[in-house]
Amino acid sequence: MTTRLVILGKQGAGKGTQCGLLVENYGIPHISTGDMLRAAVAEGTEFGMQAKAVMDAGDLVSDKIILGIVEDRLAEPDAAAGFLLDGFPRTAAQADGLVELLAPGSVDLAINIDVPDDVVLGRMLERGRDDDTEEAISRRLALYRSETAPLLDFFNAGGYLVTVDGLGAEEEVQERIVAAIAIEAHKRDD
Ligand code: AMP
Repeated sequence: MTTRLVILGKQGAGKGTQCGLLVENYGIPHISTGDMLRAAVAEGTEFGMQAKAVMDAGDLVSDKIILGIVEDRLAEPDAAAGFLLDGFPRTAAQADGLVELLAPGSVDLAINIDVPDDVVLGRMLERGRDDDTEEAISRRLALYRSETAPLLDFFNAGGYLVTVDGLGAEEEVQERIVAAIAIEAHKRDD
């Protein structure tokens, strides 16, 4: 059985922590397009330098490039038994591309970690990073809504979406996610 997961959630929803726990619990690779792009930037390749300019401007790297990176990564042996996609897909075109890459299979579950805006705002203001001003956070939340809401619809229409309450202790949230994955696996066994 495979465990092919996509994780969705606002910045400050606890996605990073939950990804770490999921990777441990299921022994699957964490495939974060943001991490892969940052690695390319750190290597200082020409591609990395181009990506940095796009990322610094707060824009999205082109769908074609992202899909190429993800295709190569999914072809690696450790992704055969499953994976956790983080930060991808981010656009409708990437979601369509993912479907093509996985055909005739699909993802098993897209997990949406749900935390209300005011809680995310509070958490990030507490964190107090330079780029965590109330204005910047609001902008990122608006961008998340415009970018991600269509993806929620996309996964929901395919019957792959589960929304998990992201409030509470990290372990509790992880338990909710593990339970949702178990229910999904059970459904497929029937
Ligand atoms: P993240 O760490 O996921 O927030 O990604 C950091 C930055 O990398 C984003 O602001 C984008 O510029 C770029 N990026 C990461 N993933 C993608 C993606 N799937 N599509 C386009 N750009 C991406």
